[in-house]
Amino acid sequence: MEQRDVIVVGAGPAGSSCAKALTDAGVDVLVLERDALPRYKTCSGLLFGQTQELLRRYFNTDAPDSVYCEPHLLSADNVVEWKPDGSYVPYLWEIAKDGVEFSRSYQNIWRNHFDKWLLDISGAEYRDRARVIDYTAASDYVDVRVGGAGGESIRDYRCKYLIGADGSASVVRRGLYPRVPGASAGILQSYFKIESVGSLRPDSFSVFFLPEVGEVFSCVHEKDGYLVLCVGGLRGRKLRQSIQTFRQFLADRFQVKLGEWWRDEGCQIALDRPVFGEGRVVLTGEAAGCIYLNGEGISAAIDSGYRAGQAVADALEGKGDAVGLCAERSGDIVAHIEKCLGQMHFLTI
Ligand SMILES: Cc1cc2nc3c(=O)[nH]c(=O)nc-3n(C[C@H](O)[C@H](O)[C@H](O)COP(=O)(O)OP(=O)(O)OC[C@H]3O[C@@H](n4cnc5c(N)ncnc54)[C@H](O)[C@@H]3O)c2cc1C
Repeated sequence: MEQRDVIVVGAGPAGSSCAKALTDAGVDVLVLERDALPRYKTCSGLLFGQTQELLRRYFNTDAPDSVYCEPHLLSADNVVEWKPDGSYVPYLWEIAKDGVEFSRSYQNIWRNHFDKWLLDISGAEYRDRARVIDYTAASDYVDVRVGGAGGESIRDYRCKYLIGADGSASVVRRGLYPRVPGASAGILQSYFKIESVGSLRPDSFSVFFLPEVGEVFSCVHEKDGYLVLCVGGLRGRKLRQSIQTFRQFLADRFQVKLGEWWRDEGCQIALDRPVFGEGRVVLTGEAAGCIYLNGEGISAAIDSGYRAGQAVADALEGKGDAVGLCAERSGDIVAHIEKCLGQMHFLTI
């Protein structure tokens, strides 16, 4: 059995940021990632202003050119909400946090390249194709069982702290809190080759709150020659049907012409209050429920991840209980999550 001080599960932004805090503190840390890297991740792939600030704060850098797609930048002025009468108004994706307004220029990236880059610059050791199957937590260690991507080989680890940064369907979280269905939103995206964007504003992110179009909300933006159609709804809504209605709506109203279909991708986002774990098992990022709706999750992941890493580094030095430290230092993140949720008018339709 391999022994490590800390094991981080998941190589998304929360896992990489957490691993960065631990390596910064000189802690022995290993990141385990289920998929082969770089792995695909369902995401619109926009780095909003707060994300850009957090990259500079924790990683001392900006995202490199190699992770961008076209159009590189999306101005917040081009993020618009269309009204039924054909007019549009600016749409606010990112609200100020603690009185701080963020950059209104959003970076358009591919998550596979961005996440791999972030993991590399975290400086942490990692293993991919290493899927955490389950774990057993004792008072002074955690035993972790890991299988290969195809579930073939089993490997055992023992660590002092286990950090679950394994996203919205977190296995680590489920080990602590067996699935209790709470409120959640479903999101489905479809990618189509662009033949013509018709009269949609160029380089824009267009948002619609028209019940006849999508069940709750719909939005569309460009990514490297693809038009990404995205619809969201509360649990149980028929998202596939919404995509078809949305597609027809774009053709009828804006003369959008779509070419070959590339892919569909979907995800559930839990809307529960964040929880940061128990004992030697710490949760962070979306595994903890840290996401700023509407869909602004990379910043919440990076910020909560770094703080979870710092909390565990301090706990290893005997400065307190890891989960308690993590919760205490994440109070502003939780408050901002609640503020964002309160402003999501699509959830109250
Ligand atoms: C359709 C959609 C669009 C979005 N668009 C945006 C956007 O434009 N901008 C934005 O800021 N946010 C966006 N978000 C939110 C954002 O993608 C997430 O909030 C963010 O990725 C969460 O980061 P994370 O590190 O917590 O988890 P993730 O990024 O999900 O990373 C978790 C990692 O853990 C790995 N993993 C899972 N289970 C295991 C296991 N058992 N063992 C080992 N590894 C495991 C996964 O493979 C993954 O690599 C969007 C979300 C959706 C669904």
